[in-house]
Amino acid sequence: QPVLTVEHLALSIGGAVIIDDVSLSVARGEMLGVIGPNGAGKTTLFNLISGVMTPTGGVVTLEGCDVTNQTIDARARAGLGRTFQTSSLFPALSAVENVRLAAQVKLGGSTSVIRFPRSNDAATTIARGRLDEVGLDHHGNTAAGVLSHGDKRKLEIAMLLATDPSVILLDEPMAGVASGDVAGLSEVIRQVHRSGRTVLMVEHHLDVVLGLVDRVAVMHHGQLLACDTPDAVMADEAVQKAYLGAPL
Ligand code: ADP
Ligand code: MG
Ligand code: MG
Repeated sequence: QPVLTVEHLALSIGGAVIIDDVSLSVARGEMLGVIGPNGAGKTTLFNLISGVMTPTGGVVTLEGCDVTNQTIDARARAGLGRTFQTSSLFPALSAVENVRLAAQVKLGGSTSVIRFPRSNDAATTIARGRLDEVGLDHHGNTAAGVLSHGDKRKLEIAMLLATDPSVILLDEPMAGVASGDVAGLSEVIRQVHRSGRTVLMVEHHLDVVLGLVDRVAVMHHGQLLACDTPDAVMADEAVQKAYLGAPL
């Protein structure tokens, strides 16, 4: 049974078709890249999957349950986690405090900030483990706002992991990241995937996508042009025609 499916997903806003009859399914443990030019509907697809937006047609199924009309929170409880294209960090809080807040939300207690680094509660233990997992353990006490872009993305992934999702949506994790940090961030995403999580990733760096993913979904004008292995997608005539040789 696929962990996530969308069937005939559609979104129109004010007469404009934003998502046009998109169907795909993602197997448990799979990593799916989502590519396509700016404005193709990639982020909107994530918004519909995560419940930020409600489709005008179609069905979203998570872990076998129809979640099409469920709230963001209900989907998060069912195991869906996502990052956004823009940063969602508290810049003045340390890295460990940022992850700790995410862990507290998952644990269901009240959230609080402890302004000294020696707290030893369950949320802090989770936070330190997640920072370790993304290779940021040495930056636990660093204010999030002064981290490099690459380390900020890693921190956002650590915050996501602290909520223990089974399906993770990453929207352009490499955006704004210095070229020298791309390989390190790719490796973190590879490890997150290898640890058994299902990952969907919108990403413009095609070399990064093709090196990481099991399959690639190609979006164009709100439609799904192709969804197949990297080799098959690159050889797909509809994909080549749509891009006319231009870089994806
Ligand atoms: P991508 O992530 O592939 O760059 P988006 O999903 O952000 O593309 O946007 C797809 C299209 O939908 C764009 O033309 C965008 O302007 C439009 N769009 C996205 N959100 C809204 C909205 N809330 N209202 C109207 N148009 C929107
Ligand atoms: Mg865009
Ligand atoms: Mg986008």
